Amino acid sequence: MAATVLDGLKIRDEIQAELAGEIAALKARGITPGLAAVLVGENPASQIYVRSKVKACETLGLYSEKIELPASTTTAELLELVEDLNRRDAIDGILVQLPLPPQIDTRRILEAVDPAKDVDGFHPTNVGRLVAGRAGLVACTPAGIMELLRRYQIPIKGARAVVLGRSDIVGKPMALLLLHQHATVTICHSRTRDLAVVAREGDILVAAMGRPALVTAEFIRPGATVIDVGMNRLSTEDEVRQAFHDPAEALRKLESKGSVLVGDVQPEDARERSGAYTPVPGGVGPLTIAMLMSNTVRAAKLRREALSESRVASSE
Ligand code: NAP
Repeated sequence: MAATVLDGLKIRDEIQAELAGEIAALKARGITPGLAAVLVGENPASQIYVRSKVKACETLGLYSEKIELPASTTTAELLELVEDLNRRDAIDGILVQLPLPPQIDTRRILEAVDPAKDVDGFHPTNVGRLVAGRAGLVACTPAGIMELLRRYQIPIKGARAVVLGRSDIVGKPMALLLLHQHATVTICHSRTRDLAVVAREGDILVAAMGRPALVTAEFIRPGATVIDVGMNRLSTEDEVRQAFHDPAEALRKLESKGSVLVGDVQPEDARERSGAYTPVPGGVGPLTIAMLMSNTVRAAKLRREALSESRVASSE
């Protein structure tokens, strides 16, 4: 049977259509959720990401601010900005685009963001809530993958799930979310022995390593659900020939566009071995921004609820 393509664009549209209703209801109460996106320096990929995030806000009618700072910004200057955004009522979500330039203490910056406005879910308070299984703001990419699995009704309870990668942004939160949904989870990393053998145990296999097409047929349990988080841009013919079994189409793309995007999973093997898989592009990528919008709306609601509870408490 042909594998199901897990269509991230379709799920993104579903999520955003639902959000539009929630945003309209908030606006009727005089509340417009607001996102501040902070970009330091001139990293071209970061510029594209921030632009797409601000554009998504505009499409959905959220308030947004794009704050661009020079590459020479110091930790103290960035801390001052974050603290100002923490104080401002029009801002419900603060996003500091990573990576930051090397002179900036990234950990200090992420820890300075008010956990109630931490729409990326990177603050230790929100990470702690995630570990404890308490609702909070969860990292966007893994949260988007859970939405995709839920909406395609992929069974998670009791399933064996293998997560390739243990980053704070993707691998670890992904593993915790699957665990909370009662999967039996294995986390792999660069020191894992017999990676393909371990990966093949997964009914659900999530690849988040940043290694072009490393996951080949021998990694994939026949019929498994394969989620490809990897976004690897290939810019030479050699790289393209290594990543694709049949590179003809990708080589044409390389020639016309100058680069080709490939995930961590060999695309032809995913199509042939899996039961369902996310394509690259058009799989996980679009969900990340949709979940950022969702977290911004959620942060706006949670903050208003917390404010009105504290007003009630202080008037008692
Ligand atoms: P990261 O911080 O570099 O982490 C990569 C992880 O993969 C590490 O835990 C590393 O192990 C592991 N790893 C690397 N090579 C390996 C190998 N050969 N065998 C086994 N494990 C290996 O990357 P990330 O931020 O999690 O991102 C991963 C990928 O997802 C990247 O391609 C990134 O562009 C993409 N991404 C996509 C989205 C999206 O919206 N689609 C969002 C975020 C990230 P160690 O810990 O042992 O070093």
